[in-house]
Amino acid sequence: MARVFEKAFWMGEIVPISEAHVSVASAAVLYGLSVYTVFPINKTKQGFFAFRLRDHYERLIRSSRIIGLDTFESQWSFEKFQQTVGELMSANTFTEDVFVRATIHATDLVPGTRSRGLTTNLSMFIYEASPIVPQNGARVKTSVWRRTPDESIPSRAKVNGAYVNSVLAKQDAIDCGYDDCIFLDNAGHVCELSAANIFMVRDGVLITPSSSSSILEGINRRTVIEIAETLGIKIVERTIDLTELYIADELFACGTSAFIAPIIEVDKRVVGKGVAGYVTQILKSKHFGVLHGTEVGFEHLLTVI
Ligand code: PMP
Repeated sequence: MARVFEKAFWMGEIVPISEAHVSVASAAVLYGLSVYTVFPINKTKQGFFAFRLRDHYERLIRSSRIIGLDTFESQWSFEKFQQTVGELMSANTFTEDVFVRATIHATDLVPGTRSRGLTTNLSMFIYEASPIVPQNGARVKTSVWRRTPDESIPSRAKVNGAYVNSVLAKQDAIDCGYDDCIFLDNAGHVCELSAANIFMVRDGVLITPSSSSSILEGINRRTVIEIAETLGIKIVERTIDLTELYIADELFACGTSAFIAPIIEVDKRVVGKGVAGYVTQILKSKHFGVLHGTEVGFEHLLTVI
């Protein structure tokens, strides 16, 4: 379980987390009509910094735009969003890396199944949690549940209600004794894990499903691609068959809450040598450095709050 910090932002002010409530009659609860993002605030030598805050803000706006929650964008500029993160940080005391969950909720009561014009409210709270995928070698299985396609509930939008898809898949994996799942699309191609993107290394090439493969366009996925580019690693974004995972030299998951997690087994097939591969280890260490301000050339991704 995560440790949630005492003060939250809700209904325009900082309040005790115990007072940050959404009505049981709201569209947010009735239909899962909320969109969210989670970004880290990390300790660096220069103090605490938010990672890729503008990218997280923009993805939040895009998620709301996709599902038609159209009242948020005009009310919340990036500057106002950033200032609110600052107020939330000042209201809480923390000494180590933390996560912030920012959610736009549709708060109208029993509005019916629609989205346009609904009242929206932003919540934000800080929490500490362990990585969602083991960091020293994850064992995964193909999910019995398929990833929601773009023409059904778009995986590109981070919609709270859509996360039932991830819960079903993760629970199935846990029930079967695995750490996480591999989601396939309806054609049997690889998408991602329950809440992390996937990368494969074959013959020295870094390969990941393209952004039109029913995935969330992960901010760490983009970061990994940018790091790999600086290292001169060839990157390909394309359709991946399940059986390619069985013969990959290396596999890893990446995400805000997964960091970079080597995958050492898929459906009982050992990946590579059964330990974190060379490329995975380099990217994992560089990614940690990028998040903590020690990688030269990536400092612009950290936002001073
Ligand atoms: N896919 C899904 C389904 C996720 O929930 C997440 C976590 N946000 C990711 C991928 C990774 O995205 P990010 O790197 O932005 O955390």
